[in-house]
Amino acid sequence: MNRTQLLKAFDRIRIWQQGDRRAPHKPLLILLALGRLQRDEPAIVEFAQLDKPLKALIDEFGPSGSGRNRHLPFWHLATDVDGGIWHLNGPASILQRPRGATPTLTELRQQHIAGGFSTVLQSAFQREPCLIQEVARRILDAHFPETLHEDILSAVGLSLMDVNCDGPLGTESKRRSRDPAFRDRVLRAYEYRCCVCGYDLRLGQQAIGLEAAHIKWFQAGGPDVENNGLALCALHHKIFDLGGFTVLSGSYKLAFSQHLTGGEPIRSELLERNGNLINKPQSPHYLPSGQYLEWHAREVFKSPARD
Ligand SMILES: [Zn+2]
Repeated sequence: MNRTQLLKAFDRIRIWQQGDRRAPHKPLLILLALGRLQRDEPAIVEFAQLDKPLKALIDEFGPSGSGRNRHLPFWHLATDVDGGIWHLNGPASILQRPRGATPTLTELRQQHIAGGFSTVLQSAFQREPCLIQEVARRILDAHFPETLHEDILSAVGLSLMDVNCDGPLGTESKRRSRDPAFRDRVLRAYEYRCCVCGYDLRLGQQAIGLEAAHIKWFQAGGPDVENNGLALCALHHKIFDLGGFTVLSGSYKLAFSQHLTGGEPIRSELLERNGNLINKPQSPHYLPSGQYLEWHAREVFKSPARD
């Protein structure tokens, strides 16, 4: 299998199937497995061994409560691309089940079901180790906003820093181009200040640490328009993308997650803003659309909200 075939195989994995529902399970499992490969750990591993790190990963970077479905990608990835990506080992009584009859978490653990990249992929990655980081980069670009890339990479123990791997990246992986004016338009709409805390530090004319966040992620088809943007300081952008807070549709009030905790000064500076209005944009034309806010509340926010 050469580079092009390998990249194509990963592109053919079935994800984002139910409209714009987020399904980060397979991408996160693949990144976890790529990290193991890069560290020369055995490619085929028992589910029981992946269980804990996979749950932590999906809990942190997936929609609220999605970690409880961590066994689904481990099982279903084996039917993607005609079985060319992921192999399962274990007793036939389990493996010969119809694909829809997913084993339970307990079955996967107790029956010692193991899984990992197919031997064809393993040898392709062995011949060209740089493909590990190329695939990882494409998966991150396709499924997660940039604010989360470093966090995900460190959680799965992957490094994309190998200077010997400056391969032909980019062009193919970016199927939809981003509007470079999005940031400017959103920041101007919010008069260059964070809509949560009012942060507006400048160095000369330049705003520092102020970012234009997509409410509905670019990776989920969210458009580059003001109504899908919020001006957020770097800290609030990160918390927003991780689902620590959301903005309620209709009222534009901030709702913080019960999972977000901290002592002083976090309490007074952040958590006590729960229920406050955002700093609204300068024109009502730029107000966030309900459909994008609802997507964020459903697909990213870590429910339940604080009272
Ligand atoms: Zn802020």
